[in-house]
Amino acid sequence: MALAEHYPLSTPIVVAGAGGFIGGHLVCALEAQGFSQIRAVDCKPVAQWFQRGRRAVMVEADLRRRKDCLAATEGAAIVFNFAADMGGMGYIEQNKLNCMLSVLINTHMLEAAAASHVERFFFASSACVYRADLQAVSDAKPLREEDAYPAMPEDGYGWEKLFSERMCRHFGVETALTTRVARFHNVYGPHGSYAGGREKAPAAICRKVAQAKLTGVHEIEIWGDGEQTRSFLHIDDAVEGLQTLMTSEVAEPTNLGSDRLISINALVDVVEEFAGIRCRRSFVPTAPLGVRGRNSDNTFMKASLGWSPSVSLEAGLARTYRWIYDQVSQELRATKAE
Ligand code: NAD
Repeated sequence: MALAEHYPLSTPIVVAGAGGFIGGHLVCALEAQGFSQIRAVDCKPVAQWFQRGRRAVMVEADLRRRKDCLAATEGAAIVFNFAADMGGMGYIEQNKLNCMLSVLINTHMLEAAAASHVERFFFASSACVYRADLQAVSDAKPLREEDAYPAMPEDGYGWEKLFSERMCRHFGVETALTTRVARFHNVYGPHGSYAGGREKAPAAICRKVAQAKLTGVHEIEIWGDGEQTRSFLHIDDAVEGLQTLMTSEVAEPTNLGSDRLISINALVDVVEEFAGIRCRRSFVPTAPLGVRGRNSDNTFMKASLGWSPSVSLEAGLARTYRWIYDQVSQELRATKAE
């Protein structure tokens, strides 16, 4: 469901974390629908944003600071908050404090949104809120929304998300602000982190296979034994699903994920197929791995939103691989030219 089906195109919208992966795609989608008053906010210099809208007003601000949140939300009717200090498992396991400090962003953004009389507020939560003991095996049972309690989330990042979910709940009950919370499960696609330490498994695998293809060195490193499992949601589905949730009457945190479970080794098989190569795999048992298996139970999502993802993993990964291949190829050409 597109936001434009519910709101006039002149509605003032704020996208926080717009320099990042999901926020950048949402800004482009909202511009394509014709929204004319989009304020896109991020702490990164604009030159480093993954995507820059054509008409959105781009603002550099540190949303850990209350005054920046007040300035960011002033005059807005709708706020999407994607701003967070986050990354893939390699980043969140080694930067728990930074991840916890995103509580400043979410708390100040909620306070500011309520003070600015914003109508609706979207919070990007995560499958990392779910109980670790339910994710101890590769063929773990898909996670239902109620499986977040009794609480045993991912240390650092997951606790912050769970706390901020509850903050949204109480703002939603005790103030005039309407809040919507999505628990994203591994969103992937082009125009996001694919190197540097914050990238997630699909992007890291696409980069490694592209490097193998381009250099002719057909070897890749895999974290763990590769038999850990996850489900992966393509960015186009994520952007559509989050708008559907945002415009719905669903006040409870809701999974936004795919329910197709796949191992990391099988994901590598798919990407190797696109590249037309087979790589020798070296396994790194000491790498950060997170839980052993995680899948999304989409029963509540389908029943309450009447929506489910439609991009197949093969189609979504093919587009992601193509984009990452182009980035890696440009980098290799630039290095050779130096
Ligand atoms: P991202 O890292 O690409 O984007 C987050 C953006 O927030 C970055 O551009 C960053 O610069 C910005 N930011 C960080 N601190 C800020 C601050 N103090 N002030 C202003 N901006 C700040 O991440 P993403 O993949 O686009 O994820 C967006 C949101 O969705 C995050 O809240 C993330 O936790 C959540 N989420 C994402 C996934 C996923 O698979 N991508 C899964 C679960 C949850």
